[in-house]
Parts: sequence; C-alpha cells; structure tokens
Amino acid sequence: MGNIKENIADINEQKANIAKKVGRNPEDVLLVAVTKTRTAEAINEAIDAGITDIGENKVQEIQDKYDMVKPVHWHMIGHLQTNKVKYIIDKVSLIHSVDSLHLAEEIDRRAEAIGRTMDILIQVNAAMEESKFGISTEETGRMIEAVLSNCKNIRVRGLMSIAPYAEDPEDIRGYFREVKELYEKYAAFKHERSDFKYLSMGMSNDFEVAIEEGSSLIRVGTAIFGERNYHSING
Ligand SMILES: *Cc1c(COP(=O)(O)O)cnc(C)c1O
Repeated sequence: MGNIKENIADINEQKANIAKKVGRNPEDVLLVAVTKTRTAEAINEAIDAGITDIGENKVQEIQDKYDMVKPVHWHMIGHLQTNKVKYIIDKVSLIHSVDSLHLAEEIDRRAEAIGRTMDILIQVNAAMEESKFGISTEETGRMIEAVLSNCKNIRVRGLMSIAPYAEDPEDIRGYFREVKELYEKYAAFKHERSDFKYLSMGMSNDFEVAIEEGSSLIRVGTAIFGERNYHSING
C-alpha cells in the first residue's frame, strides 16, 4: 500500500481499466473517497490528489470536519436519524442512505426551509440482512413513488446498496446484478424529480466487480487511506 496520492492513482487506473474492459466510459464511474475516522489533514491530501467527492457515515464527523476540509462535494453515506438532518442539509451534495418516507419527508422540510432541492438515493438492502439498513427490493418502487409525490424538494438520483461481506467478491456478483436490474427498472420511471444518475455500490474489496456489474459510484475508504482505527476520532 502506497501513500494516499499513489493509492488514488492506483484506484483510478483500476477503475478505468475495468470500465473500458466492459465497454463503459471511466468518467461515468465516480470515485467517492470514504473519509470516516480520517483527519482533515488526510482528507485534504486526498483532495490535493484529485478527489472531488468525499463520503462520511456520521453527522457528527461532517460537522466536526466541514470547516477544516477544502471545498469538495460531501456525501452522507451512513444511516441518518431524522433529528439530525438539520445539521447537514446545507453541507452535503447527496444523501445515499434514505430508507424511510419519514426520513425523506424531514429532508424535504429542511431542504425547503433553506430553499434548495436535495439529491438523494434510496438505500436498498437486497439481501435483507438484519445488520444493514435499507429497504427490500419489493418496497423500492412504492418508496420512490411516495417520495416523488410527497417531497417536492427532493430529487431522486438513484439507488445505493451495501453488498453482503464476501471473502471472494465473485460471490456477490449476483447481488450487484440484482441491484442493477432494479436500478434500470426505476431509472425508466418518468417524473420531473426522478433523474437517475447514480448506482452507488462497490467498496474497497469489491469495487471491481461492482463496476463490471454497472456501478456508477464507488465508495472507497480503506484502499485509499489504509485500515481504519476507530479509536482515533470520537471513540
Ligand atoms: C465505510 C464505508 C465504505 C468504505 O468501506 P471500505 O471498505 O473502507 O472501502 C463504503 N460505504 C459505506 C456505507 C461505508 O460505511
């Protein structure tokens, strides 16, 4: 493992190679650097190396680091509690983790209050793992329709999913394929506030397979910054 800059260059190269191999444009796959537990210094190093988008999974970390990090697009990728939406509504570009209408309605209210339209993804838990947030594949269509009809200040930009852990990423190729099929189905849905662009799937250990199966946004932490030490920030 090299330094942050080398790691980013390596990932961009792998991303480009895989995309080309499957006949896709490498620029259609956005690399989001996952910066949870990382210092502002490390994050700024990544931004200097070309990172344009970063992902955090805790509201507190976004608040703590926001003013110390260079201008960049912030993504909320972790479970979001309704009562914390107000702290990030003016800071993030995309919320990946919308998994209830209740949460969407709060995002809608807070977005309206500051006069913006918020881009969101619906988090799908296609394997229905109890340990993960997200809605079932069966509920996805109804959820998208409910958000579109109830939340005028939200634009639905696609789906996000976290694959089950697999020693061998080949074992979850079918999972990614299933989420991609769901994505295609709802991307075709015509509505003025439904504008699908992001299929957010793939992390450090499985982004290659995810890109092969159609991911357009990969969330990569460890492969950029190294192993996380959860005791370094906020315990
Ligand atoms: C931590 C995290 C990632 C990144 O995981 P790595 O294995 O470090 O690449 C991606 N997505 C979500 C939702 C995360 O919480």
